[in-house]
Amino acid sequence: MTALNEAYPAARTQDELSRNLAAVRARIDAAARRAGRDPAEVRLLPVSKTVELERIRLAYAAGCREFGENKVQEAEIKSSALAELPALRWSVIGHLQTNKARQVAAFASEFQALDSLRVAEALDRRLQAAGRALDVFVQVNSSGEASKYGLEPAAVPAFIRELPAFHSLRVRGFMTLALLSPDAAKVRGCFVLLRGLRDRLRQDAPAGVELQELSMGMSGDYEIAVEEGATVVRVGQAIFGSRALPDSHYWPTGPNTQEHPA
Ligand SMILES: *Cc1c(COP(=O)(O)O)cnc(C)c1O
Repeated sequence: MTALNEAYPAARTQDELSRNLAAVRARIDAAARRAGRDPAEVRLLPVSKTVELERIRLAYAAGCREFGENKVQEAEIKSSALAELPALRWSVIGHLQTNKARQVAAFASEFQALDSLRVAEALDRRLQAAGRALDVFVQVNSSGEASKYGLEPAAVPAFIRELPAFHSLRVRGFMTLALLSPDAAKVRGCFVLLRGLRDRLRQDAPAGVELQELSMGMSGDYEIAVEEGATVVRVGQAIFGSRALPDSHYWPTGPNTQEHPA
C-alpha cells in the first residue's frame, strides 16, 4: 500500500459497490494499457475480509463471483453461509497453519499463500481424500521485511522443484505483498522482483507446474502492480470501504509474531 492512511468511503448499497467495482476495473484497464498489456489479462479478486454477509451478497448481485479471504475460519463461515449462491468461488489469500488444511481443502477453489512443504503436504493429503484439486500460488517475500510471510526469493527454485509430488495442487504462479511504503519506487521494486523471478523460473519449470500468474497489488498499489505485470490484483478497501481493523491484525508485524516461519 502506498497510501497508508488513505480513507476509502464505505460502499453500503449494490449501486455503490457497482460504482467502486467499475472504478477499480477502469483503473486496472488504464494501467494495463499504459504498459502495453491487454486488460483482459488482469483478474480483479475482490477481498471481502471483515465484510459482512449482507454486503457480500450485494457484491455478488453486482457481479462478483469470487472473493478473497485472509483467514480460514472467516472464509469457511462465509462460504457455508453463502453456499446457495451459484458459481461462487473462494480464494484463501492468507497464511495457513497445517491444522486448517482440511477446511481449505473442503471449500476453497484457490490458495494463494503457499510457503512451506508442510502445508503443501497437508493440503495435498486432504485434497486427495476429498477428491478435489486446488489452484495454488507460491507466496514470495519480495520486500525483504523479516516480518512478512512468504519464501525468500532465493529459496523459490528449490521449493518449486518439490511441488510436482503433490498431485492435487495445481501450481499457477506467485503471490506477494509489496513493501508497505509511501515510496512508489520501492513498492514497484517488489513487483519487478516477482515478475523477474517468474520469468526466470518459467523457462524450466518442472512438468505440471505452471508459472503464469502473478498475484500482486492491493487497494493502495494495484495500478503499479498492473504496470509491472500483475495477472491478479487483490482489492478490498477500494471496493468495500476502509476496514476498521488495522492491517497488523492480518499480517505479522513484529519479530514476536506467533506462527512466523523462522
Ligand atoms: C486484505 C488483503 C488484501 C487487500 O487489501 P486492501 O487494502 O483491502 O485492498 C490483499 N492481499 C492480502 C493478502 C490481504 O490480506
